[in-house]
Amino acid sequence: MTTETTATRDTQVFDLIAQEQHRQESGIELIASENFVSPAVMEAAGSVLTNKYAEGLPGKRYYGGCEVVDHVEQIAIDRAKELFGATWVNVQPHSGANANTAVFVACLHPGDTILGFDLSHGGHLTHGSSVNISGKYFRPTFYGVERETGVINYDVVEETAKRERPKMLICGASAYSRDWDYARLRAIADEVGALLLADVSHPAGLIAKGLLNDPLAHAHIVTTTTHKTLRGTRGGMIMMRNDFENPFGIKTMKGETRLMSSLLDSGVFPGTQGGPLEHIIAAKAVAFGEALTDDFYDYAVRVKSNAQAMAKAFTDRGYSIISGGTDNHLMLIDLRSKGLTGKLAENTLIKADITINKNMVPFDDKSPMVTSGMRVGTAAMTTRGLNESDMEQVVVYIDKVLMNHDDAATLATVKEEINEWMKAFPLFKS
Ligand SMILES: *Cc1c(COP(=O)(O)O)cnc(C)c1O
Repeated sequence: MTTETTATRDTQVFDLIAQEQHRQESGIELIASENFVSPAVMEAAGSVLTNKYAEGLPGKRYYGGCEVVDHVEQIAIDRAKELFGATWVNVQPHSGANANTAVFVACLHPGDTILGFDLSHGGHLTHGSSVNISGKYFRPTFYGVERETGVINYDVVEETAKRERPKMLICGASAYSRDWDYARLRAIADEVGALLLADVSHPAGLIAKGLLNDPLAHAHIVTTTTHKTLRGTRGGMIMMRNDFENPFGIKTMKGETRLMSSLLDSGVFPGTQGGPLEHIIAAKAVAFGEALTDDFYDYAVRVKSNAQAMAKAFTDRGYSIISGGTDNHLMLIDLRSKGLTGKLAENTLIKADITINKNMVPFDDKSPMVTSGMRVGTAAMTTRGLNESDMEQVVVYIDKVLMNHDDAATLATVKEEINEWMKAFPLFKS
């Protein structure tokens, strides 16, 4: 094994990593799906566990030498169960998309109908988009929000479900600022004989601390990423509060009915993945340990109150928020009332070191490459320590940049002020 010295260090890559750290430290990060993990989470993710093959599950592996990683993975599972009140968890999905694909492979046959939240209204690619496996291998149908309110009308979801007869009803979003009525969705799923999948990738951290409705009380299956509000390493997982016999008659080779937990485990491996990333699972375990603390509860409360403060600051300055506000950590802003596009906002704000993403708004008249909206969230900047009055200041900067988008001098001044301001919020506290 080579030991790294200054002379042998891969400066090409490590210089870039240093540049990226500088970018993260000096700017304002408002991408709603991003967050900053702790040094402990990074240390686990960069550990020797990356060397280990461990196909299978703790205690049931296809490789030897898994005693240690078995413990690690079991801790991740146990902590996730405690966090979400689950009785069964699989922590192996490499990402949120992989978690969803594993669920589809476990529960559905090619061609089955799925009913998800429209991508152009804030839904996710993996819930039936024609460019994703979920839309290529299954028959995707969609529900959306009401044009007038920007909110989901569950009566319309019910009508759509009765018409389309999906095998799986999917809820969850990447750009929806309102909480979900999981009880109502379960009633709809039961009415048409569908499984209810709740993908809580975005609000998982708030759900874990009881600050939003509990999806596990109603959904048959819950998937999530681990890196958004949950503030762990990049990854995914699948959970259930109650195991049950699969309703679609999938049998074992002996002709016995299989439990959903067993189907889901095999949907992950060997269904859609090979060896699990045990270093990432260790990092998940560390992050879940952090999320179990009272400090994380305080964090989650501040994520929400910061989002409230930000929504109010935008509204006070005449910006229009889809659905009129937020229940969680994010909001979608319709820039048409300001005569701007999402593309212009994204490209201009980055010049002042403010990172957001352009986003379609419901019933958007512009293309996905241009869009009429921008999505912002408070998870990352709350980790850095910004409070409610800081959120107002962030909105002041955003407004100044957008109102002066073709004035290079103003953009440069705001960038300098932000770089200076961010020094007060170090990424790593020493
Ligand atoms: C982010 C997200 C995903 C995908 O997660 P990846 O880790 O990027 O694959 C899936 N579903 C929803 C609702 C998301 O917000």
